[in-house]
Amino acid sequence: MTTDSLFRRLPRRAVIREVGLRDGLQILQRVVPTAAKLEWIRNAYAAGQREMEVGSFVPARLMPQLADTAEVLAYAKTLPGLLASVLVPNLKGAERAIAEEAHAMLVPLSASHAHSLANLRKTPDDVVAEIGRIRAARDAAGSRVLLEVGISTAFGCTIQGRVEESEVVRLVQAVLDAGADRVSLADTVGYADPLMVSRLVEKVLRVAGDRLDTAHFHDTRGMGIANSCAALQLGIRRLDACLGGIGGCPHAPGASGNVATEDLAYLLASMGVETGLDFDALVALRGKLAQWLDGETLYGSAWRAGLPKTMRQPEVAA
Ligand code: ZN
Repeated sequence: MTTDSLFRRLPRRAVIREVGLRDGLQILQRVVPTAAKLEWIRNAYAAGQREMEVGSFVPARLMPQLADTAEVLAYAKTLPGLLASVLVPNLKGAERAIAEEAHAMLVPLSASHAHSLANLRKTPDDVVAEIGRIRAARDAAGSRVLLEVGISTAFGCTIQGRVEESEVVRLVQAVLDAGADRVSLADTVGYADPLMVSRLVEKVLRVAGDRLDTAHFHDTRGMGIANSCAALQLGIRRLDACLGGIGGCPHAPGASGNVATEDLAYLLASMGVETGLDFDALVALRGKLAQWLDGETLYGSAWRAGLPKTMRQPEVAA
Protein backbone atom coordinates (compact mmCIF):
# COMPACT_ATOMS: atom_id res chain seq x y z
CA MET A 1 0.00 0.00 0.00
CA THR A 2 1.38 3.41 -0.91
CA THR A 3 1.45 6.35 1.48
CA ASP A 4 -1.06 8.08 -0.77
CA SER A 5 -3.60 5.31 -0.52
CA LEU A 6 -3.07 4.98 3.22
CA PHE A 7 -4.02 8.61 3.72
CA ARG A 8 -6.33 9.10 0.75
CA ARG A 9 -9.42 9.27 2.92
CA LEU A 10 -8.20 12.03 5.21
CA PRO A 11 -11.00 14.60 5.22
CA ARG A 12 -10.20 18.05 3.87
CA ARG A 13 -11.80 19.63 6.89
CA ALA A 14 -12.33 18.31 10.39
CA VAL A 15 -13.89 19.59 13.58
CA ILE A 16 -12.33 19.37 17.00
CA ARG A 17 -15.17 19.39 19.49
CA GLU A 18 -14.03 20.80 22.81
CA VAL A 19 -15.35 18.59 25.61
CA GLY A 20 -13.14 19.88 28.42
CA LEU A 21 -15.94 21.86 30.04
CA ARG A 22 -17.82 18.60 30.63
CA ASP A 23 -15.52 15.58 30.37
CA GLY A 24 -12.56 17.49 31.75
CA LEU A 25 -14.17 19.30 34.65
CA GLN A 26 -16.53 16.59 35.86
CA ILE A 27 -13.87 14.41 37.46
CA LEU A 28 -12.10 17.24 39.29
CA GLN A 29 -12.88 17.80 42.96
CA ARG A 30 -12.91 21.56 42.57
CA VAL A 31 -15.74 23.62 41.11
CA VAL A 32 -14.51 26.03 38.44
CA PRO A 33 -16.38 29.37 38.73
CA THR A 34 -18.95 30.10 36.05
CA ALA A 35 -17.10 33.27 35.03
CA ALA A 36 -13.98 31.22 34.20
CA LYS A 37 -16.05 28.77 32.14
CA LEU A 38 -17.53 31.65 30.14
CA GLU A 39 -14.05 33.07 29.58
CA TRP A 40 -12.90 29.62 28.44
CA ILE A 41 -15.76 29.44 25.92
CA ARG A 42 -15.17 33.03 24.74
CA ASN A 43 -11.44 32.37 24.21
CA ALA A 44 -11.96 28.97 22.57
CA TYR A 45 -14.46 30.58 20.20
CA ALA A 46 -11.96 33.33 19.39
CA ALA A 47 -9.37 30.60 18.69
CA GLY A 48 -11.76 29.15 16.10
CA GLN A 49 -13.59 26.40 18.00
CA ARG A 50 -17.17 26.06 16.78
CA GLU A 51 -18.39 22.97 18.65
CA MET A 52 -18.28 22.59 22.41
CA GLU A 53 -19.84 20.29 24.96
CA VAL A 54 -20.49 22.83 27.69
CA GLY A 55 -21.89 20.75 30.54
CA SER A 56 -24.28 18.07 31.61
CA PHE A 57 -27.86 18.07 32.84
CA VAL A 58 -27.41 15.84 35.86
CA PRO A 59 -28.66 16.60 39.39
CA ALA A 60 -26.44 19.29 40.95
CA ARG A 61 -25.98 17.24 44.13
CA LEU A 62 -24.37 14.45 42.05
CA MET A 63 -22.12 16.78 40.08
CA PRO A 64 -21.71 20.24 41.63
CA GLN A 65 -18.93 20.95 39.10
CA LEU A 66 -21.57 21.18 36.35
CA ALA A 67 -24.44 22.70 38.33
CA ASP A 68 -24.25 25.91 36.25
CA THR A 69 -24.77 24.11 32.92
CA ALA A 70 -27.95 26.07 32.03
CA GLU A 71 -26.14 29.39 32.50
CA VAL A 72 -23.06 28.25 30.60
CA LEU A 73 -25.22 26.91 27.77
CA ALA A 74 -27.17 30.17 27.57
CA TYR A 75 -23.91 32.06 27.14
CA ALA A 76 -22.54 29.63 24.53
CA LYS A 77 -25.71 30.09 22.50
CA THR A 78 -25.02 33.83 22.15
CA LEU A 79 -21.89 33.15 20.06
CA PRO A 80 -22.86 33.03 16.38
CA GLY A 81 -22.18 29.73 14.65
CA LEU A 82 -21.17 27.89 17.82
CA LEU A 83 -22.79 24.47 18.20
CA ALA A 84 -23.33 23.98 21.92
CA SER A 85 -24.02 20.48 23.16
CA VAL A 86 -24.73 19.04 26.59
CA LEU A 87 -24.53 15.55 27.98
CA VAL A 88 -27.80 14.06 29.24
CA PRO A 89 -27.80 10.75 31.11
CA ASN A 90 -31.54 10.09 30.86
CA LEU A 91 -34.97 11.41 29.86
CA LYS A 92 -35.04 13.90 32.73
CA GLY A 93 -31.78 15.47 31.57
CA ALA A 94 -33.00 15.42 27.96
CA GLU A 95 -36.15 17.30 28.97
CA ARG A 96 -33.94 20.05 30.39
CA ALA A 97 -31.78 20.13 27.24
CA ILE A 98 -34.96 20.47 25.17
CA ALA A 99 -36.35 23.20 27.45
CA GLU A 100 -33.05 25.13 27.46
CA GLU A 101 -32.78 24.68 23.68
CA ALA A 102 -29.32 23.15 23.51
CA HIS A 103 -28.19 22.64 19.93
CA ALA A 104 -27.32 19.01 20.57
CA MET A 105 -27.67 16.51 23.40
CA LEU A 106 -25.38 13.57 23.86
CA VAL A 107 -26.67 10.45 25.56
CA PRO A 108 -23.95 8.04 26.67
CA LEU A 109 -24.59 4.33 26.24
CA SER A 110 -22.02 1.93 27.58
CA ALA A 111 -21.42 -1.03 25.29
CA SER A 112 -20.05 -2.90 28.30
CA HIS A 113 -22.92 -4.56 30.14
CA ALA A 114 -20.97 -4.52 33.42
CA HIS A 115 -20.00 -0.83 33.08
CA SER A 116 -23.56 0.14 32.23
CA LEU A 117 -24.94 -1.67 35.28
CA ALA A 118 -22.25 -0.24 37.58
CA ASN A 119 -22.68 3.37 36.38
CA LEU A 120 -26.35 3.67 35.56
CA ARG A 121 -27.89 0.54 37.08
CA LYS A 122 -29.32 -0.09 33.62
CA THR A 123 -28.44 -2.61 30.93
CA PRO A 124 -27.40 -1.24 27.52
CA ASP A 125 -30.81 -2.27 26.17
CA ASP A 126 -32.56 -0.34 28.96
CA VAL A 127 -30.62 2.71 27.72
CA VAL A 128 -31.72 2.01 24.14
CA ALA A 129 -35.32 2.09 25.39
CA GLU A 130 -34.63 5.39 27.18
CA ILE A 131 -33.24 6.82 23.93
CA GLY A 132 -36.53 5.92 22.28
CA ARG A 133 -38.36 7.86 25.01
CA ILE A 134 -35.98 10.82 24.57
CA ARG A 135 -36.62 10.88 20.84
CA ALA A 136 -40.38 10.77 21.47
CA ALA A 137 -40.11 13.63 24.00
CA ARG A 138 -38.11 15.72 21.56
CA ASP A 139 -40.58 15.17 18.75
CA ALA A 140 -43.56 15.84 21.04
CA ALA A 141 -41.97 19.15 22.04
CA GLY A 142 -41.48 20.11 18.40
CA SER A 143 -37.79 20.51 19.25
CA ARG A 144 -34.91 20.15 16.82
CA VAL A 145 -32.18 19.39 19.38
CA LEU A 146 -29.81 17.00 17.67
CA LEU A 147 -29.77 13.61 19.42
CA GLU A 148 -26.34 12.01 19.48
CA VAL A 149 -25.62 8.73 21.22
CA GLY A 150 -22.05 8.25 22.41
CA ILE A 151 -21.17 4.56 22.61
CA SER A 152 -18.77 4.48 25.56
CA THR A 153 -16.39 1.61 26.45
CA ALA A 154 -16.61 0.71 22.75
CA PHE A 155 -13.07 -0.67 22.80
CA GLY A 156 -13.05 -2.38 26.17
CA CYS A 157 -13.90 -1.77 29.79
CA THR A 158 -12.04 -1.75 33.11
CA ILE A 159 -14.78 -3.85 34.76
CA GLN A 160 -15.78 -6.31 32.06
CA GLY A 161 -12.57 -6.33 30.03
CA ARG A 162 -13.34 -7.27 26.45
CA VAL A 163 -16.26 -5.68 24.61
CA GLU A 164 -17.20 -7.55 21.43
CA GLU A 165 -17.24 -5.57 18.18
CA SER A 166 -20.46 -7.35 17.24
CA GLU A 167 -22.12 -6.04 20.41
CA VAL A 168 -21.07 -2.47 19.57
CA VAL A 169 -22.45 -2.83 16.05
CA ARG A 170 -25.70 -4.30 17.40
CA LEU A 171 -26.13 -1.38 19.82
CA VAL A 172 -25.36 1.22 17.14
CA GLN A 173 -28.10 -0.28 14.96
CA ALA A 174 -30.45 -0.36 17.95
CA VAL A 175 -29.97 3.31 18.88
CA LEU A 176 -30.37 4.42 15.27
CA ASP A 177 -33.59 2.41 15.12
CA ALA A 178 -34.64 4.08 18.39
CA GLY A 179 -34.27 7.52 16.77
CA ALA A 180 -30.71 8.76 17.36
CA ASP A 181 -29.62 11.27 14.72
CA ARG A 182 -25.99 10.26 14.96
CA VAL A 183 -23.59 8.12 16.94
CA SER A 184 -20.06 8.48 18.20
CA LEU A 185 -17.57 5.91 19.44
CA ALA A 186 -15.67 6.47 22.67
CA ASP A 187 -12.61 4.77 24.10
CA THR A 188 -13.58 5.66 27.64
CA VAL A 189 -10.75 3.84 29.40
CA GLY A 190 -7.94 4.09 26.85
CA TYR A 191 -7.84 0.47 25.65
CA ALA A 192 -7.89 1.20 21.91
CA ASP A 193 -5.05 1.06 19.42
CA PRO A 194 -5.16 2.27 15.79
CA LEU A 195 -5.84 -1.22 14.40
CA MET A 196 -8.79 -1.70 16.77
CA VAL A 197 -10.08 1.73 15.77
CA SER A 198 -9.85 0.92 12.06
CA ARG A 199 -11.63 -2.41 12.50
CA LEU A 200 -14.48 -1.09 14.62
CA VAL A 201 -15.00 2.13 12.67
CA GLU A 202 -15.20 0.15 9.40
CA LYS A 203 -17.81 -2.17 10.86
CA VAL A 204 -19.88 0.60 12.40
CA LEU A 205 -19.75 2.65 9.18
CA ARG A 206 -21.42 -0.29 7.44
CA VAL A 207 -24.55 0.11 9.60
CA ALA A 208 -24.41 3.83 10.42
CA GLY A 209 -22.93 5.40 7.26
CA ASP A 210 -22.32 9.11 7.78
CA ARG A 211 -24.39 9.06 10.96
CA LEU A 212 -21.12 7.91 12.55
CA ASP A 213 -18.96 11.00 12.31
CA THR A 214 -17.41 11.48 15.75
CA ALA A 215 -14.77 9.69 17.78
CA HIS A 216 -13.74 10.29 21.38
CA PHE A 217 -10.36 9.06 22.57
CA HIS A 218 -8.81 9.10 25.97
CA ASP A 219 -5.05 9.21 26.19
CA THR A 220 -4.71 6.88 29.16
CA ARG A 221 -1.90 4.93 27.53
CA GLY A 222 -0.64 7.61 25.15
CA MET A 223 -2.55 6.23 22.13
CA GLY A 224 -4.99 9.12 21.77
CA ILE A 225 -3.32 10.90 18.86
CA ALA A 226 -2.58 7.67 16.98
CA ASN A 227 -6.18 6.56 17.44
CA SER A 228 -7.54 9.93 16.31
CA CYS A 229 -5.40 9.66 13.20
CA ALA A 230 -6.73 6.17 12.47
CA ALA A 231 -10.31 7.43 12.75
CA LEU A 232 -9.57 10.36 10.43
CA GLN A 233 -8.14 8.01 7.82
CA LEU A 234 -11.52 6.26 7.73
CA GLY A 235 -13.28 9.55 7.12
CA ILE A 236 -14.36 10.45 10.66
CA ARG A 237 -14.61 14.23 10.57
CA ARG A 238 -15.25 15.19 14.16
CA LEU A 239 -12.92 14.43 17.06
CA ASP A 240 -13.49 15.17 20.72
CA ALA A 241 -10.65 16.65 22.74
CA CYS A 242 -9.97 18.51 25.98
CA LEU A 243 -7.76 21.55 26.28
CA GLY A 244 -4.65 20.61 28.24
CA GLY A 245 -5.61 16.93 27.95
CA ILE A 246 -7.68 17.10 31.13
CA GLY A 247 -10.38 14.61 32.07
CA GLY A 248 -10.05 10.89 32.07
CA CYS A 249 -11.42 7.98 33.90
CA PRO A 250 -11.94 7.81 37.66
CA HIS A 251 -11.17 4.07 37.47
CA ALA A 252 -7.67 4.67 36.09
CA PRO A 253 -5.88 6.72 38.75
CA GLY A 254 -2.82 8.64 37.59
CA ALA A 255 -3.71 8.19 33.95
CA SER A 256 -3.72 11.17 31.61
CA GLY A 257 -7.08 12.33 30.32
CA ASN A 258 -8.50 13.04 26.89
CA VAL A 259 -6.54 13.82 23.77
CA ALA A 260 -5.28 17.40 24.15
CA THR A 261 -7.11 19.87 21.90
CA GLU A 262 -3.92 21.73 21.06
CA ASP A 263 -2.06 18.53 20.09
CA LEU A 264 -4.87 17.46 17.81
CA ALA A 265 -5.01 20.96 16.29
CA TYR A 266 -1.31 20.66 15.58
CA LEU A 267 -1.65 17.18 14.04
CA LEU A 268 -4.43 18.30 11.71
CA ALA A 269 -2.66 21.50 10.69
CA SER A 270 0.53 19.56 10.00
CA MET A 271 -1.33 17.10 7.75
CA GLY A 272 -3.13 19.90 5.93
CA VAL A 273 -6.59 19.11 7.32
CA GLU A 274 -8.42 22.40 7.84
CA THR A 275 -9.83 23.12 11.30
CA GLY A 276 -10.03 26.90 11.39
CA LEU A 277 -8.11 26.81 14.67
CA ASP A 278 -5.42 29.20 15.81
CA PHE A 279 -2.79 27.05 17.54
CA ASP A 280 -1.12 29.92 19.41
CA ALA A 281 -4.46 31.14 20.71
CA LEU A 282 -5.21 27.63 22.01
CA VAL A 283 -1.84 27.49 23.75
CA ALA A 284 -2.49 30.89 25.32
CA LEU A 285 -5.85 29.62 26.55
CA ARG A 286 -4.14 26.52 27.94
CA GLY A 287 -2.06 28.92 30.06
CA LYS A 288 -5.27 30.41 31.50
CA LEU A 289 -6.65 26.93 32.14
CA ALA A 290 -3.49 26.09 34.09
CA GLN A 291 -4.27 29.06 36.35
CA TRP A 292 -7.93 28.16 36.79
CA LEU A 293 -6.91 24.60 37.64
CA ASP A 294 -3.89 25.56 39.71
CA GLY A 295 -2.52 22.39 41.29
CA GLU A 296 -4.04 19.98 38.73
CA THR A 297 -1.88 18.22 36.16
CA LEU A 298 -2.34 19.24 32.55
CA TYR A 299 -1.16 17.03 29.69
CA GLY A 300 -0.34 17.36 26.01
CA SER A 301 2.97 17.90 24.22
CA ALA A 302 2.77 20.44 21.41
CA TRP A 303 2.46 23.48 23.71
CA ARG A 304 6.00 23.03 25.03
CA ALA A 305 7.86 23.89 21.85
CA GLY A 306 5.07 25.47 19.79
CA LEU A 307 4.77 25.18 16.03
CA PRO A 308 7.86 24.14 14.07
CA LYS A 309 9.55 26.70 11.85
CA THR A 310 8.19 24.97 8.74
CA MET A 311 4.64 25.79 9.81
CA ARG A 312 5.26 29.43 10.72
CA GLN A 313 4.39 32.22 8.31
CA PRO A 314 7.52 34.30 7.63
CA GLU A 315 7.37 37.55 9.58
CA VAL A 316 6.60 40.47 7.32
CA ALA A 317 8.31 43.74 8.19
CA ALA A 318 5.77 46.48 8.85
ZN1 ZN B 1 -14.48 10.93 27.81
